[in-house]
Order: sequence, then C-alpha cells, then structure tokens
Amino acid sequence: MTASATRYDADRDDLGALLSGEPRYRVDQVWAGLYEQLSTPDEMTSLPKALRARLDDQLPMALTEEVLRVSDGGDTMKYLWRLRDGSHIETVLMLYPDRVTVCVSSQAGCAMGCGFCATGQAGFVRQLSTGEIVEQVVRAARQARTLGRRVGNIVFMGMGEPLANEATVWAAIERMHGALGISARHITVSTIGIIPGIRALTGRPLPVNLAVSLHAANDELRDSLIPMNKRYPITDLMRACADYLSVKGRRISFEWALIDGVNDRDSDVAELAALCRRFHLPAHVNLIPLNPTPGWPTKGSSSARVREFCDLLHARGVNATVRRNRGTDIDAACGQLAAGQPVAVTRKPGGA
Ligand code: SAH
Ligand code: SF4
Repeated sequence: MTASATRYDADRDDLGALLSGEPRYRVDQVWAGLYEQLSTPDEMTSLPKALRARLDDQLPMALTEEVLRVSDGGDTMKYLWRLRDGSHIETVLMLYPDRVTVCVSSQAGCAMGCGFCATGQAGFVRQLSTGEIVEQVVRAARQARTLGRRVGNIVFMGMGEPLANEATVWAAIERMHGALGISARHITVSTIGIIPGIRALTGRPLPVNLAVSLHAANDELRDSLIPMNKRYPITDLMRACADYLSVKGRRISFEWALIDGVNDRDSDVAELAALCRRFHLPAHVNLIPLNPTPGWPTKGSSSARVREFCDLLHARGVNATVRRNRGTDIDAACGQLAAGQPVAVTRKPGGA
C-alpha cells in the first residue's frame, strides 16, 4: 500500500499489516465492516475505540462530497467529489423501479478528446486509483441504503476512458464482484474503442459486459467525431468486439448518441445494420439523443427521429432500444460530466 493509498485501496494484506498487533480475526471484521456493512471505522462499534480512531486516520477516505444534486423526482443523484489532491470527479446514482445503478468515473477528466462530450472538452487530469473507483460505489450504496434500496448494477460511463486505465479498473471490478457482492454480469465497461484495452479485458476471468461507443459506422464520419478512431478504425474494432463476444459469450452493446443531421440519417441506419451483419455481431444498439454540452454546437436529434431511427434498425433486424435520458437538468446525463471544469471548444461537429 502506498503512502497516498485510501480506505478502499487497501487489500486484505494491507489490512493485515495495519492490524499486525491485533488478534487475527480483526482483518475479517474490518473487511466485513468496510465491504458488507459499508461502514466507516467510527461505525464499527465492535472494535475498541482507539483502534477505530487509528483506522480512520490511517485509512483516509478518498472522496469528499462537495455537491449532491438531485433530479427526476429524487431518482437520479449526481455527486461532485473532491479528491485528496484537490481534483474533482463525478458519480451518478440512478434508482429504477426494478434496479439501482451507479455510474462511476474511471479517470479525472479524459484524454480522448471527443468534441461532443463535456469530459473530453475539459481534458485529462489524472488516472483514478482502485480505491477511488470502489469508494464511489460504496458511498452511493450507502445513500441507496438510506432509501431502502440496494445497488446491483455498475456502469463505467462516468468521467474517463476505463480502458485507458484497464489494470486499475479491473482491480476495482474484482473488488466490486468479490467484496461488494455485485455480479460481474451486472457490471458494464463502456469504451470509445481502445483495442488493446478490449483485448486485455477479453483475457480477464469475469464475464463483464462490454459497451462500445460507436456513434458512426464509417471511418470518415467516426474520425470526425472521435479522434481515437484514426488509431483504432472500425474494422479492427469490430474484430476485437467479435473476439470478446466469442470468448465471453456476453452480449455487446453499441452506444449511439444521435446528432441531428450528422449520424441520424437513413444511410447511417443502413451502414450500422451492414456492419453488424458483416461481423455476425448480435449487438444491442442503445440510442439516445446527444445531450447538450457547453463546447459543442450541434443538437441532439428530435425524439421523433430517435424513435424512427430505432424502428428503421428493427426493420433491418438490428436489436435496438431508446435509452431513457436521466438527469439532463442537473448535467448528470451521458457526456455531461465535467466536474465543474471549464470546457473549451476544441472541435467542429462531424464533417460539417
Ligand atoms: N469513455 C467511455 C465511457 C464514458 S462516456 C466511452 O466513451 O464510452 C459514457 C457514454 O456517454 C459514452 O457512450 C459516450 O459516447 C456518451 N456521450 C458522450 N458525450 C455525450 C453527449 N453529449 N450526449 C450523449 N452521450 C454522450
Ligand atoms: Fe472520453 Fe468517453 Fe467523453 Fe470520449 S466520450 S471524451 S472517451 S469520456
């Protein structure tokens, strides 16, 4: 454990070292306190008071709550956290009738530079540690518990590109699965298409879901929207997806944020359907209208066009659904997380 490590960075061995003068059962007791009861040391009343104080001091929290914004009648909550070095990240907690989902950040900022995304507009700050990722889930789960709900789903769709921080993200996934008891099948990693990261994930043991932010089905358009497409073009990306599918047997989803007049044309439907056919990818396409961000002038498609685009995909045999947009009024929706950073206009919209 490094000196800067935080409460949820510590593994069992670290706890063992920290508790070396204590009876052996203490490690299990503290581990269960942190991960099963989601407790702070102060709340672990079965421990001696001096030990609680020592743990609190030596295992500091990673996240300080700066702002909690609530929308959708209390069903969407967005946290702005300050990290120990003063940088900021955001986490979104979403309550649905049948499930509770936490959308976590994997980096402070993002280096991928997608112009339509507020995180990309603000730029990269730094990688998060495993503990900083896991603690987002723990803190949101504590909140859910006060409402009588239990977190069962995690999506890596907050700030950052998780597959540009794959090893750390993987360690966080193992901790969520093994210690917090969240099924790997209920964990989704969303990527802009970092092929080495997809390959690394393919080699990992747990069957997590992969979501690829596709947004365009030809390289010319995708290059103009997503700078990384030049490095990892669509054909190579599809091969990596097909391999993931064949090794994991998990459905892949494609994210498609519909931009008015840019990627919502009939020709886009045809290209996407052809792509899925060509790679025998029984993918599921998630459609949302592009959310507004400060640095991007083009609008999202109208809800009528989103519906129509979905129907056109169905007519071509592609599985697609329109995703309900959450938290737009508190800038908590997809692509709107900037953690209070000023954003710069960096690019012009696709091809225009
Ligand atoms: N970096 C990863 C995960 C975080 S982004 C990725 O890009 O996949 C989460 C999702 O929000 C991605 O599908 C991303 O393409 C999408 N997104 C970004 N900006 C958006 C916007 N303005 N409106 C709608 N979705 C957006
Ligand atoms: Fe980064 Fe994803 Fe935003 Fe692109 S869409 S800038 S990869 S967070």
